Amino acid sequence: MKFGGTSVEDSTAIDQIAEIVKARLAERPLVVVSAMSRVTDTLLAMAAAAGKGDRDKALDLCHQVRERHFNTAGELLGTGLFTELHSEVHSEFDSLEQLLRGIVAVGELTPRTSDYVVSFGERLSSIVVTAAFVARDIPATLLDARQVIITDGQHGRAIPQVEEINHQLQAHAQPLLAGGRVPVMGGFIGSTREGITTTIGRGGSDFSAALAGAGLSAERIEIWTDVDGMKTTDPRVCPDAHRIKIISFDEAAELAYFGAKVLHPATVLPAIEKNIPVLVLNSSNEGTRIVARTQKSRSLFKAIAAKPRITIIEIVAARMLMAHGFLARVFEIFDRHKCAIDIVSTSEVSISVTVDSNEAIPAITADLEKLAYVKFSGRQAIICLVGESIRERPGVAAQVFDAMKEINVRMISQGASEINMSFVIEESDVAAAIQRLHARFFNDLDPEVFD
Ligand code: ADP
Ligand code: ASP
Ligand code: MG
Repeated sequence: MKFGGTSVEDSTAIDQIAEIVKARLAERPLVVVSAMSRVTDTLLAMAAAAGKGDRDKALDLCHQVRERHFNTAGELLGTGLFTELHSEVHSEFDSLEQLLRGIVAVGELTPRTSDYVVSFGERLSSIVVTAAFVARDIPATLLDARQVIITDGQHGRAIPQVEEINHQLQAHAQPLLAGGRVPVMGGFIGSTREGITTTIGRGGSDFSAALAGAGLSAERIEIWTDVDGMKTTDPRVCPDAHRIKIISFDEAAELAYFGAKVLHPATVLPAIEKNIPVLVLNSSNEGTRIVARTQKSRSLFKAIAAKPRITIIEIVAARMLMAHGFLARVFEIFDRHKCAIDIVSTSEVSISVTVDSNEAIPAITADLEKLAYVKFSGRQAIICLVGESIRERPGVAAQVFDAMKEINVRMISQGASEINMSFVIEESDVAAAIQRLHARFFNDLDPEVFD
């Protein structure tokens, strides 16, 4: 059972998840928690401030986070338990403060140190939640994620090492479960084999939960969040989005990858391998069930997602393009800079690709310019329509582009998976595009699939 930032944001929320976990005790849950809402952002901000030498700002932000954890713990725990927790939480914050002072002193924030700072979010939330559970008669035991989630050393987006994780789960989590305990582990963080703290990418607590669920062959993986399931689109953009009752692993993976923030994109992979259903839910109803196979539905699409902050890189090489080996040389450059490409389209004289990280662009450009003329457009977004019925229906593209008549479409791709249709538009057109598509395709819904 994974609880996101809003589900642990204050004492009321933690009280509520304690009730939810209690109701599942007979099923022997393992609990994964995110940092309290907004804490990860604040930790990143204090690390950045310290890196820039702004000691006062860094310490002030640290003080605010400390107060928030103490107030929450105070509200959740009786005097006895609070006293026990007090020194533990204080010493965590003291070491965070020391760390920030250290960053100011050396005047440099490395990715490794940034991961260490940001890890305090999940470390502290898991400490507070464990104590709150114990105070509510849940036999909870804190499980340090860094003992279990072993990763490589790419700080900020470290890659989990599944075999070792499974081994550690057997060694540290399984005995707790067998002894009737409820392990509580922070999501998002891990460590290298050498014991250096890492993080697995923003929103990564879902992924941690899926790794734990798969490694322990759980019956299901529950992602508890602040919406009542996966919706036909982001409810913040379209308040009339509908809940999807059931969706396939493939569809959910495409949606998550192309921007549906409700699920971290890597979450379904471990579940697919072991065929473990994933549920996305909150306390208000049964949520969304993500399963290997779904029945045919009469609705064309399951959902629309948008991925902003995309850059289009256009590689223009009039005489080179058709020459054999050219594409290979272009892709090799992206590969060398560890830069993933989302969408590709080619014409007689150019090849356009989209990338979602700007870090590597200057270096990539320098290399590409040895081969061709390079142009960029920033502030683009990918809109992705997902549905397993797409492949069987003629005229889908015509309907989609008819709905988007006034919007300038820069690139189009019908995914190789045949369950996804994506196109690239200006970031500023995203809300309008989603609202039009949603109004066009989600008004006559199959009640078997949608709420
Ligand atoms: P948590 O902290 O629980 O991990 P997130 O903020 O990461 O929660 O994800 C939940 C949010 O994802 C929702 O509040 C919603 O605004 C957003 N979201 C984006 N696309 C979708 C979608 N298709 N269905 C549901 N929620 C979505
Ligand atoms: N706390 C981390 C973040 O905000 C991980 C998560 O919440 O899933 O990105
Ligand atoms: Mg999330």
